[in-house]
Amino acid sequence: MRCHSCLKNISSGFYCKLCLKKLFDGKKIKPLEFDKTEFYEIKRQMTNRISLSGVQDKISLTYGDHNDLIPTQTDGRFILKPIPRVHDSAIHLEDIAANEHLSMQISSQIFKIPTAPNGLIEFKDGELAYITKRFDYNIDATKASILKLDQEDFASVLSFTKESAGNDYKYESSYEECAYGIKRFVAAYIPALEDFYKRIVLNYLIGNGDAHLKNFSLIREVNRDDYSLSPNYDILFTRYHLPDENGIAGLDLFKEYESEAFKAMGYYTLEDFEIFAKMIGISDKRLIKIFNNILSSTDKVHRLIEQSFMSSEAKIAYRENYDIRLKKCLCYSIESYSFRGVINKYYDV
Ligand SMILES: [Zn+2]
Repeated sequence: MRCHSCLKNISSGFYCKLCLKKLFDGKKIKPLEFDKTEFYEIKRQMTNRISLSGVQDKISLTYGDHNDLIPTQTDGRFILKPIPRVHDSAIHLEDIAANEHLSMQISSQIFKIPTAPNGLIEFKDGELAYITKRFDYNIDATKASILKLDQEDFASVLSFTKESAGNDYKYESSYEECAYGIKRFVAAYIPALEDFYKRIVLNYLIGNGDAHLKNFSLIREVNRDDYSLSPNYDILFTRYHLPDENGIAGLDLFKEYESEAFKAMGYYTLEDFEIFAKMIGISDKRLIKIFNNILSSTDKVHRLIEQSFMSSEAKIAYRENYDIRLKKCLCYSIESYSFRGVINKYYDV
C-alpha cells in the first residue's frame, strides 16, 4: 500500500504516521462518508446560500467527532476537490486529482518548497479526491479557537484588477513584478525570493501553465505587521489536461526583457533563469545549490511519478514532459553559460 499523502510504501491504512500528523493533526481520518453525487448536492446547497464563487468543484471540510471529515461553511480546515464530472475543454479528467497531488509532493519532497499539506482521500464508494489543508488560519491553543490569517493574492498585492488590466488580469503581469512585490512587502524577503524562484522553476518543469497572479499569495499572521509568502498551492501539470493551452508558463518571467536565447528558441532556457535570478538578487552560490538539487533529483522525481495514483498513460506523459522540459528546454546548451559546469556534471549537452 502507498501513503495517500507522501506516496511511500506502508503496510496498512491510508496514510503513514508522519502524514497523519502533518495533514490531519494526528487523527486517524476515515474515508469520507458521502459520495460524489452527494458532494455535488452539498456544494449546490452551500453555493446557493453563500456566494457565487462556486464555479470550481470544491467544498470546505472540518473535523467531525468520529475521526471523520464533514462539510462545513464556516472555519473550514480542508479543501476537497474531486475529479470533475465534466469540463468544457479539458481532457483526461480522471487524472486531475492525482496529478495535483503528485505535483504538490514534488514541490515539497524534491524542491523543498513550503507546500500546503495535501493528499488523496476516498469518497464512500472508493473514488479518490484531492484534499489539502488550508493555511489561512491558525489554531489558538489556549482558547481552542481558530484565527483567520490575512491572505492577499498577487493580483491584489500588485493591484491588478479587471478594471485596470482587463478580463485576463491575472495573466497580465510577470514573475519579475511579483518578485518586486515580495521585496516590498515581505520583511524576510531574501529566503522568500529564493522560495518564489524555486516555484517558478518547478512550474516550468512540470508544465504548469496556470501559475498566474492568484496562485501566489502573501499571508500575515495574526498580531504581525509583516507578510510572508504562503505555502505553495494549486499546482499541476495543466498541459496534460489542456494540450492546446497557449504560453509556456503562467506568466512571463520578465516585464520587458527578452534574452537572445528566448528570441531564438521561443521558450525559456537556463540563460533566462540565470538572468532572472540575478535580477531578483539570488546569489550565484545559492543558485548553484538550487540547480544542483534539481539536476541530481531526476531519479527521485521519476520514482514519485511511478508511485503516484495517476493512470499509466498519465505517468508516461508526466515523465516525458518533465524530462523534455529539464533536458531539452532548461538545459539547452549555450557556450556562455556560467552554469555550464553544473549542467555538464549531469548531462551531455
Ligand atoms: Zn506519508
